[in-house]
Amino acid sequence: MTNLSKMDLSNLAPGHQTDQPQSHHGDAAAAIANQLYVHGPASRRELAESLQLSLPTVDRALRELMRRQLIEPGPSRPSTGGRRAYAYAFANSNHVAIGISANRGSLHIRAVNLAGEVSDAIDRVIPQYSGNAYWQRVGNIVNDFADATERHATIIATACAAPGILTPDGGMVEFDLATASPDASLRTLIQTLHRPCTLIRQAEARATAQLWADRTIDDALCIYLDHMVSGAVIVDGAVNSGPNRCNGTIAHMTLVPDGLECRCGRRGCMDAYCSPTTLTEDGESLPGFFSVLEQGEPNHRRRLDAWMDHLAQAIAAARSVICGDVILGGQIAQYLDDADIADIARRVRERMPFGMDRFAVHAAMPGDEQAAIGAAQSCVGAYVASLGLDPVARFHSAIP
Ligand SMILES: [Zn+2]
Repeated sequence: MTNLSKMDLSNLAPGHQTDQPQSHHGDAAAAIANQLYVHGPASRRELAESLQLSLPTVDRALRELMRRQLIEPGPSRPSTGGRRAYAYAFANSNHVAIGISANRGSLHIRAVNLAGEVSDAIDRVIPQYSGNAYWQRVGNIVNDFADATERHATIIATACAAPGILTPDGGMVEFDLATASPDASLRTLIQTLHRPCTLIRQAEARATAQLWADRTIDDALCIYLDHMVSGAVIVDGAVNSGPNRCNGTIAHMTLVPDGLECRCGRRGCMDAYCSPTTLTEDGESLPGFFSVLEQGEPNHRRRLDAWMDHLAQAIAAARSVICGDVILGGQIAQYLDDADIADIARRVRERMPFGMDRFAVHAAMPGDEQAAIGAAQSCVGAYVASLGLDPVARFHSAIP
């Protein structure tokens, strides 16, 4: 099984559009589209040669792809006899997906084209961030953004990164771990939106963004150390959701039996030991904690030490299932320097008797907007797979 077909299976969002050509001519069109997508602009003659197709077949396919706005005239190039040959290019930006991330008052909206690149963006800070009025306001901002986007591109799908646990069909938030109850707020958002919107678990959206930025990632455990800890898994170069859409949700794995009380109502969860709130005391902010730590305060050093031990223990336990690299992101991760990351890796090594030959801890790409980018990219991934396009090959061919 190739990476692409696996990605196709794991990234298929409900309601995504399929535009898979059916006929033999359609096969030629898909092959030509992928050739241009992966390797960049080419003339009709170059396409015929590289794909072993007749010129009439190439011409028919090019007309079909032009009609579907998947390709556009590219730069002309020198040909035999000194004449300029007309070239075709894949039209990355005629189709976009919209991704939304609304996390504790910071709203990010991104339009992402078929190359996985951000083509439009809005960031807003909304201080009052709960209740139906807030979610209606978010919905209206997204509607305005989508209306503006639609003037120059076709919107293939919209997805919102959701911090809770989703229902297995991905339709709604089943469990909001912050309140340990079903979450109704995103329902208001979806009702306000003028276009269909699917949900993607926030950690998976971030892992998707990581993957589009670096296709060399094979198997990895992604851990996001935010106000609420979350995680996702990458298997064979694709985000793997699992049948319940909660693969990698390690935050509520029991780390210390009968340990500290967790927000989920149980005791000893990883979240109770590894979230930023375990580092700070008496209303201290996270930047405040790290600046006092830098001044050599022993109490802060002890707290960070205990936090690293708990995190390493959680990573060691999780790596007994997915024994790959670890990608650390989220609010705390941005304060960790290379020495801290190496320290965490060392603590993991101490706790694992094997599986350490190929092991590295990497810092995730920073920024809340990564969830919005990844949400859109997960729609783009499903869409380009349905067209027979290979974004992994495109990454490795490194066309600008
Ligand atoms: Zn818990």
